[in-house]
Amino acid sequence: EAFNANVAAAGALNAFIVATPEKALAAADAVDEARSAGKQLGPMAGVPIGMKDLFCTDGVQTTAASHILEGFVPRYESTVSANLWKAGAGMLGKLNLDQFAMGSSNETSYFGNVVSPWRTAGGGNAAMSPGGSSGGSSAAVSARLCPAATGTDTGGSIRQPAAFAGITGVKPTYGRCSRWGVVAFASSLDQAGPMARNVEDCAIMLEAMAGFDPKDATSLDMPVPNWAEMLDADLTGKRVGIPREYRMDGMDAEILDNWERGKTMLRDAGAEIVDISLPHTKYALPAYYIIAPAEASSNLARYDGVRFGLREMPSDKDGERAGLQDMYAATRSEGFGDEVKRRILIGTYVLSAGFYDAYYNQAQKVRALVAQDFEKAWGSCDVILAPTTPTASFPLGSLDDDPLTMYLNDVFAVPASLAGLPAMSVPAGMNSQGLPLGLQLVAKPFDEQGLMNAGLAIE
Ligand code: GLN
Repeated sequence: EAFNANVAAAGALNAFIVATPEKALAAADAVDEARSAGKQLGPMAGVPIGMKDLFCTDGVQTTAASHILEGFVPRYESTVSANLWKAGAGMLGKLNLDQFAMGSSNETSYFGNVVSPWRTAGGGNAAMSPGGSSGGSSAAVSARLCPAATGTDTGGSIRQPAAFAGITGVKPTYGRCSRWGVVAFASSLDQAGPMARNVEDCAIMLEAMAGFDPKDATSLDMPVPNWAEMLDADLTGKRVGIPREYRMDGMDAEILDNWERGKTMLRDAGAEIVDISLPHTKYALPAYYIIAPAEASSNLARYDGVRFGLREMPSDKDGERAGLQDMYAATRSEGFGDEVKRRILIGTYVLSAGFYDAYYNQAQKVRALVAQDFEKAWGSCDVILAPTTPTASFPLGSLDDDPLTMYLNDVFAVPASLAGLPAMSVPAGMNSQGLPLGLQLVAKPFDEQGLMNAGLAIE
């Protein structure tokens, strides 16, 4: 019954692309069986979770929210989802997202936008964005349709939607979670992570998701700690860096106030607050919007109408038979959404012979400088505190004709992505309209523990 009530609520939010309640129920039954057989239960035994529809799931349609993958049913399971099933979790369904994870509002999905469960207090009743690209995940967890969901973060797609929906989201160190079986966007940046109600749930779920995988060449060959067990909100002896470059001109006063509150909470937990500088911050977003589309244009070349999902066969014209090239063109024209096409065009342009040095190579150099900024900063701090986003959630449709403002959503998220660092967003109060605000924490490579300990001190 509770599930059916949730299905109605889920319909209004458009959070799920496909529902698989039978899988969640099977996981619950397995718990009963294991119990009566006196067997030990997994760390996520019986937990019904939402799966971002970017993870390939054996026998269940996987679309990346794109028309081009409609009807694609993988015959294999992503490593991360397989790890979660091994820990006992069950799949409630595949969650909506921005098409191929490209977007910050969930409006680029072929299956329609997700609606945030949040409304502004008093002021009108505009449907708000749950953020993106993991907006189905943030909306479903925030509306309590499921206790936890997977997300992926290439340049903010776990942290920004978590902030917009008032939940907790963790992007671990690049390589912690296998990318095998996750539909690729920008492979040098893509990283899976948990989205849940609180830090402890994220810690438990991340432990289940993470681990070395020989099928992913960039997978980290390191032991996975029991983060939840060692969570500790006492930050005595820890130094928290406040990057001065994140204080930008014309920044929303409420975002600044929230940041101040975050500092106070960390200071109260025993930490010392220190000023730090990340001088190349302002170049990170432009570099990201060269590197990510470049990798995307290469990754998305595989959708050719032959191997996956959609095939559009144009009719013969003027007595000429339509050929293979015509089929490619028709399939890709029909199958990809506008934002995806924009990325493919930008990516192809910056990788082309005449422009490679001017754009792609430059962006790679900037990426190295951004990473160096962080390395230097670790000399004087253990974790960094900043806002997750420059604004709270916005009404759906309000940025339709403004891709650049949309891209600015990730201005604070992208530097940690370029550097491959673990980062998270924790809910930290509301603005005067009653919309949630998030605070972002960034930690040293592999220090998910330090990251989540600081998150615990804020939550
Ligand atoms: N919003 C950013 C983009 O559109 C980041 C997306 C993501 O992290 N998947 O590229």
